[in-house]
Amino acid sequence: LLPVGIVVAMLLVGALIWGVRRRLSPLGELSLAVKRAEFVVHYQPIIELASGRCIGAEALVRWRRPDGTMVRPDLFIPLAEESGLILPITDQVIRSVVSELKALLVSDRGLHIAINLSADDIKSGRALNSVAAALLHTGIEPQQIWLEATERGFMDVNSARVTLTNARSTGYAVAIDDFGTGYSSLSYLQTLPLDALKIDKSFVDTIGTDSATSSVTRHIISMAKTLGLGIVAEGVETQEQADYLRKHRVEYVQGWLYAKAMPAADFIAYYRLNRAR
Ligand code: C2E
Ligand code: CA
Ligand code: CA
Ligand code: CA
Repeated sequence: LLPVGIVVAMLLVGALIWGVRRRLSPLGELSLAVKRAEFVVHYQPIIELASGRCIGAEALVRWRRPDGTMVRPDLFIPLAEESGLILPITDQVIRSVVSELKALLVSDRGLHIAINLSADDIKSGRALNSVAAALLHTGIEPQQIWLEATERGFMDVNSARVTLTNARSTGYAVAIDDFGTGYSSLSYLQTLPLDALKIDKSFVDTIGTDSATSSVTRHIISMAKTLGLGIVAEGVETQEQADYLRKHRVEYVQGWLYAKAMPAADFIAYYRLNRAR
């Protein structure tokens, strides 16, 4: 039999360990991250295929936890979208983009930044107010801001139309993201006011393969052209894919063949070396 003192000591140690190990729920952690503004934005260069020059970047959010680990967006955006936390996260992304790249955007009108919006951002329209508030008195032109939304953002077609119409009348360009991965894409393309279409990586991946999908890629390109939409192909990893896209006169590309997403300071240096002039 153990003396009472030792038992008590063991219980105390156990309680201490339990207390330290006890974690907030994932949602609790994410809302704390929002309160503490733990999000950072990385920038993936967007290249004009014809010239090979950088004309912009897509802002891609990461969650930097207090221990320094970076959490990829696909691991927390779904929870943020379900819980409504996406709205303040989008606000933080917008403010970071403007504060980090303001000087470069004002000194070079050829630079564009694409910001991802979720379905709730489109539906509430709040993101447009956030962008307008962030741009106020900065000298950044609305034409330098591109907004991206997936088909899920367009499912509530009436509110989507209102938000997109407002966005475009302010001067922002609007792109449909991950095109082809959702559903009823075609009806959105016909009825919503859009400027550009982003071809999802899963289609770019099929270029040069003899899979049935590779002909879908060709059809997406020709359809976008018929509708007068600009085209950005994402996830370009090989020279063969780039050559194919150039041959089919896709205007813009993003992908590891050119550059991965990088912190603001690195992107600013990259842009100075790779911009059009
Ligand atoms: P997305 O909008 O389709 O962004 C492209 C993703 O593909 C990025 O992943 C990018 O780093 C990755 N990527 C780009 N080029 C290549 C390539 O050549 N090869 C490969 N294997 N991957 C490439 P990331 O940054 O992990 O973002 C994942 C998704 O998270 C994004 O997909 C977007 O849907 C979402 N996301 C990112 N930032 C935000 C944000 O600020 N707001 C919202 N609502 N969603 C965001
Ligand atoms: Ca995107
Ligand atoms: Ca995309
Ligand atoms: Ca994608």
